[in-house]
Amino acid sequence: MSITEQKTWGIIGGGMLGMTLALRLSQKGDQVTIFESAEKVGGLTSSWEMPTGANGDKITWDRFYHVILMSDLNTRKILKEIGLENDLRWVETKTGFYSDGKLYSMSNLIEFFKFPPINLIDKFRLGLTIFAASKIKNWQRLENIPVADWLTKWSGKRVFEKIWLPLLKAKLGDNYKNTSAAFIWSTIQRMYAARKSGLKKEMFGYVTGGYEKINNEFAKHLKNIGVTFKYNSKAIAVNKQINGNLILITSDNNTCTFDNVISTLSSRESVKIAPQLSDSEKQQHEAIKYLGVICPSVLLKKSISPYYVTNITDNWPPFTGIIEMTALIDKQETKGNHLVYLPKYVNPDDELFNQDEKELRQLFLGSLYKMYPNLSEDDLLFWGVSKARIVFVLPTINYSKKVPGVTTSLGNYYIINSAQIINGTLNVNETIQVAENKLKEILKENE
Ligand SMILES: Cc1cc2nc3c(=O)[nH]c(=O)nc-3n(C[C@H](O)[C@H](O)[C@H](O)COP(=O)(O)OP(=O)(O)OC[C@H]3O[C@@H](n4cnc5c(N)ncnc54)[C@H](O)[C@@H]3O)c2cc1C
Repeated sequence: MSITEQKTWGIIGGGMLGMTLALRLSQKGDQVTIFESAEKVGGLTSSWEMPTGANGDKITWDRFYHVILMSDLNTRKILKEIGLENDLRWVETKTGFYSDGKLYSMSNLIEFFKFPPINLIDKFRLGLTIFAASKIKNWQRLENIPVADWLTKWSGKRVFEKIWLPLLKAKLGDNYKNTSAAFIWSTIQRMYAARKSGLKKEMFGYVTGGYEKINNEFAKHLKNIGVTFKYNSKAIAVNKQINGNLILITSDNNTCTFDNVISTLSSRESVKIAPQLSDSEKQQHEAIKYLGVICPSVLLKKSISPYYVTNITDNWPPFTGIIEMTALIDKQETKGNHLVYLPKYVNPDDELFNQDEKELRQLFLGSLYKMYPNLSEDDLLFWGVSKARIVFVLPTINYSKKVPGVTTSLGNYYIINSAQIINGTLNVNETIQVAENKLKEILKENE
């Protein structure tokens, strides 16, 4: 490629999506600058430090829990490109269910058939529902069916109320009423993908050092191939000039000019910073409904269960499920301690976002101690809460028809974000795929 063809690109957001875009554009020979409002890359995959005791020791791990599936081929490809392929570890994990105040293992078919909260016929219908969803290829036809209707049809009213409804409410709150059956389809497809091995065992993966290492190595690789990073640089406006170029203005009063700008921010944020967009395209982006998450991390001296995920069908615990990270990762990563996440998915305006740490601690830890009576304050090394108001898009009825495209009326201002994942759950693999596919669309148009 000759120098004259080289284009300049500003990428807003240094999460996995922004970094993937930067990688591909830079590999093509273009000049790329990433604007990241935080002091480091990673966004939702970023990590934090957790003190392990009085002697100043600490561990570093993801703020929000992350696993990699064997079927996450896009993620694995990136890991290979940045030299981390050999740092991937695969572990057979187990799943638990907390139902009627008791904890059950649900990690294989035998345990499924022993699961007491529902009778044999109901188990058969539950199994059939999961099997049916795993076999469906045409997810589009599920998009106009409410998830509650579809699950009741396949599983029956009893199973719906005993199993599905609590799980749906835990993940979506009352929003489950407007959610399409494509949601459960994509969740089951991903769950199935984790069990594709012959024995249908659940295999999950992680990179030693967690996303801290992935993000650092990704950023290092991008720097080496010429990508510029602007940290603590929040994009506040993107305006088109008379000559057609875009000016990007940041909160620290920097202005940079680019041939093209791609925002990876949420739909609402992406249109907020581009005042020249038309009212109708602003409305289309603003109409997209997101859910957020409140996610306490708890570092403990002892393990609470052998399960990576414990699903909860009782309605009193405030959290959606329990993730015991150290049922997956080697305990060396946590200096012999046990890391547990207590996520709660909520609407972005949920009052939990306004509660202080003390109130949240009482609510979440109090419930954890109630569920596991052997656990007490004496076992606690660290408690901290990570929050994000905008995390994943609700797959509402006929969602794929409402998704705005990547192009905007400004021509060279593009929006690529996780709202464009239309037949999958939110995860890094889908995020990378959206970045790669949508970028190809843009480049084809630019040819
Ligand atoms: C609780 C939880 C559990 C998860 N579990 C898994 C899992 O097990 N496996 C998996 O694969 N994925 C998982 N994910 C999903 C995964 O984290 C996301 O798919 C991925 O991180 C999304 O990347 P992104 O770049 O699209 O968004 P983000 O990570 O949100 O990146 C956006 C970036 O933009 C920056 N930014 C915001 N505003 C501005 C601005 N105005 N100017 C400049 N920069 C700005 C932010 O700081 C951020 O770095 C999980 C997510 C959560 C929240």
